[in-house]
Amino acid sequence: MDIHKKKNVVGISYNTVNVAGEAGDASPSTPIGINLPNANWIRANHGSKSISLGNILYAYGNAGSSGRLEEFAYSKEEIELEKKYGKDADNLHTALHEVIGHASGQIVDGVGTPKETLKNYASSLEEARADLVGLYFIVDKKMEELGISPSSKDMGRTSYDGYIRNGLMTQLIRIKLGDDVEQAHMRNRQTVSKWVYEKGLSENVIEKIVENDKTYFVINDYEKLRELFGDISDGSVKIIKKINEIKIPTFVILGNHDRGKDSTGETLSKQIRVLGGKYIAWDLKVFNNQINLLSARPCSSGGGYYLSKEVKGVYGPITEQDSINKIIKCSEKTVEDIPLIKKL
Ligand SMILES: [Zn+2]
Repeated sequence: MDIHKKKNVVGISYNTVNVAGEAGDASPSTPIGINLPNANWIRANHGSKSISLGNILYAYGNAGSSGRLEEFAYSKEEIELEKKYGKDADNLHTALHEVIGHASGQIVDGVGTPKETLKNYASSLEEARADLVGLYFIVDKKMEELGISPSSKDMGRTSYDGYIRNGLMTQLIRIKLGDDVEQAHMRNRQTVSKWVYEKGLSENVIEKIVENDKTYFVINDYEKLRELFGDISDGSVKIIKKINEIKIPTFVILGNHDRGKDSTGETLSKQIRVLGGKYIAWDLKVFNNQINLLSARPCSSGGGYYLSKEVKGVYGPITEQDSINKIIKCSEKTVEDIPLIKKL
């Protein structure tokens, strides 16, 4: 949403340096990059800097043999793409992760920093946010236009194959059998990979194949996968249930990406049922006696009057005039002298 976007983008820089020696926290296990500062208010007002440690990244990319790739990649094509684009795709994803991932957006006034609001989930979720931004944009034609990708399609495929293979399988070699995934980046990768795997099951976007006692995860539809990386809700009742757990007074106005995409409106109905009194559409509710909240038609996508199949499935064929009448009618309930927020 616009309130989460920075009005002016300030000083983002991304440089690569080669490391001659390291000490303190960076030794003996080295990071592959450094992002400073951490304080959100400095990042928002003055920008941030990302430095990638070039020779460390290079060494990291060359560590290990191709044996692991051949063991866990399903097709010859996947192996060839990885050999050809693997290192570059990894570096580009890391750069996007740092520069437009971590450095993007702003916290809405009055909302605490992730450390305050999300507590022990903050680091994993912040990493997930950065990864998702990188995954969404690495396949964008803009990467070619900017001259930073030889082929957005192939670099994208390589990066998606590698991400899913790693998130669901190969990163587990870092921990002992039976241990939990605890490190923030690893948790993030598993969260993102499992999420898109589960979300895409009905359309077979990522397929789990077991052959000769070996397990592979194969991507069948790269475009759908991109959509899943870019859209975390998509009518998920799981998210609605999480919202219901929030203890403070909450109202929910569903947007076009929440409609569920099942044409009958069944997913939408389910969300409405689960939300109960928290759901608003064509209605006015008073929040804490302090704010009037007016919601027009649900799942609206902006740009003219359009009623999706899902909304029609739940509410019937409502015309623009019906919709206007409903909004006027509910606005009569407005409590005067307190602010009104409307979502049309
Ligand atoms: Zn990160």
